[in-house]
Order: sequence, then C-alpha cells, then structure tokens
Amino acid sequence: MGKKREKKKQKKSYIPRISFWTRTLNPDRYAEDIKNRRNIEVVSPRPALLPTSKALIYSSELEYIARCIQDFPNIETGGQLYGAWTASGAPRVIYVIGPGPKANHQSSFFNQDIEYLETIGAKLKEYGLQHIGEWHSHHHLGLPHPSGYDTQTMQNGIDQLNLNRLVLCIGSINDRGIIINPFNFARDAHFVDARWDIINSRNRLREVIDSDLRDILRFPHSENFVLAEPQIIPQQTAINNRVGWFSNVENRQEFKKIIDTLKFQNWVNDVTPQISEDGIVTLKITSRIFAEIIRFPHDFPNEPFEIDRMGFIEQTHDHFVFNDSWEYSSDLFGIFMLNYSNHLKNHR
Ligand SMILES: [Zn+2]
Repeated sequence: MGKKREKKKQKKSYIPRISFWTRTLNPDRYAEDIKNRRNIEVVSPRPALLPTSKALIYSSELEYIARCIQDFPNIETGGQLYGAWTASGAPRVIYVIGPGPKANHQSSFFNQDIEYLETIGAKLKEYGLQHIGEWHSHHHLGLPHPSGYDTQTMQNGIDQLNLNRLVLCIGSINDRGIIINPFNFARDAHFVDARWDIINSRNRLREVIDSDLRDILRFPHSENFVLAEPQIIPQQTAINNRVGWFSNVENRQEFKKIIDTLKFQNWVNDVTPQISEDGIVTLKITSRIFAEIIRFPHDFPNEPFEIDRMGFIEQTHDHFVFNDSWEYSSDLFGIFMLNYSNHLKNHR
C-alpha cells in the first residue's frame, strides 16, 4: 500500500501539505510527509563551475593578436575576444578586436577605447558573436601570465556581470618572439592555464566582418611577426592546408557533378575521389592506358590543380602543372572541365 502511494506521488510530483489533520489522524503519513517535504525544501547547491583546460581559436585570430602586439612592442596593448562557448565550456575565439583609436597604452596597463568597444561590440552581436573575453600584451615585462590585478579584474567581471566564464589571453615578447597564452576563468574557481586548440580552416566570418565594417574597424599595421613557440601556431604547411573550397557545400555538389560526368566518358574506366586527413582532395581517373591523380589545392579553383599520370604501357610517370595556361569559367564545374580537357588535348 505504502509503495503504491509512493508511485503515485512521483507521477504527480506531489508536494505534501503538512496538515493538522494528517498529523493527528494519520501519524505514519505525517512522518512520511515530513520526510518528503524536507527532501523538497533542501536547496540543492549550484554545481560548481570549473574552468576547462582547452581554448579554441582560429589561426587567423592568433595572427591578428600577434600583429597587434607587434604594433606596440614596448608598451601594453589589447582588445576583446568574441566567439562562443563549447558545450564543455571551452571558449571558441572567432573574432578578435585590437585597440580603438582612443585606447590608453601604458607601460604596465592598457585601457580599451570604450566608445570603440561599444560600437564594434554591438555590431558583432549581429553576427551571433558573444564577448567571451579580453586580451592584452605584457610586451617585455617578463610576465607571460595574468598579474594579480588581471586576475582580480577578470573575477570581478564574472561576479558583476553575473557571467559563468571568461577567457583572458596574455601576450608577451621574449628573445625568441611573441607568446600568446590563454587563461580560462570560471565562476567558482581560480583560473587555469589553458592549451590552444587551433582551428586552421578558413575563417570566413573574419573576412565578411572585416569587409562589412571596414569603415569603423581599426586594423593592426604590422604584417610580419615572429612567434616564440611554433607549436602554438599552425605550421607553415598547416596554413596552406586550410580546407578551403571543399568545405563549401555548393563546391561539393559541383565536385559530385564532375565525378558523375567523368564516369560517363567512354574512355574512363574508374573515378575515385579521396580526401586525406589534412583535407587534401584528390581524384583518381583510370583509363585503359593510364591512371591520373588530380590534386586539388585548397584555393581551388583560384589555384590550378596538379596532375600525376602513371602510364600502364611503358610504366611512365609524368607530373603536369598549369601555371599560365589555367583558364577560368563561370563556375567550378566549368573551370574543371575546361582545364582538364585542355590537359587531355595537350597530352594525349
Ligand atoms: Zn596584465
């Protein structure tokens, strides 16, 4: 009987009323109600929110911060980080801004130009970007991590704005070059030193925003910079290996059209597309007398593909590049067909 009632209670999420009548007429029920009520009334504490040890960032944004630091190598500079939080609480830095025109740069502190911050921040919201943190440079101060003051400022920010998390990036310069370190702050804990997880694909949002807001944005002047720790920046090959054209859905549809069209050619025995771990797309086309591997660059079709041909009859191996003979057409499919048929014509 008791069990049955228990079940019913759970279903209706029954909140016991402790009445005089229950107490006097049904002491057992009264005791149980007291127990249940206590369970309900216990305020369950908020689960502690701890910082994660990972910080995601587009390589374009690390480069942007490095260029800003290079602009002010002997004095503090800084700005804000925009992006989103992953489900596990790691920041994903998608767009960085540097100092506004009225920013205050001093040897041991930096204050952003508030007017600039508010103007740009409001615009960035329209692109779905949240203000997720701050960055500043300790240039040659020999302090590649947050100062006590920095830590206090971040924690005050979390408290006062009732936030869960913030990320702080500290830049510094040593004799090998620029270092940029991420530090994750969370509501219920001290900060942790985080590790970068660098996103090497093309940051299209940066391109769109830079273009849309070019009249109000301030860009760093420096083009060249040296990073002290190559492991935190994408290697040169990684920069070139940005998955450009193939990350676009329309391009993939065009690619499928290319494959379908090739399969219908009389001379083609087999067509095999492949994508490598680092995002290089190739297409192997096999005929009766040769196999060709077409290697697509990340900037295809702005950049020509290259072809390796293995001859079956005389075991030959040839490498073909386009250079000046690369021709453009209105779409990706057209560009492929035009150039590939030119190649076949020239190298029968
Ligand atoms: Zn600082």
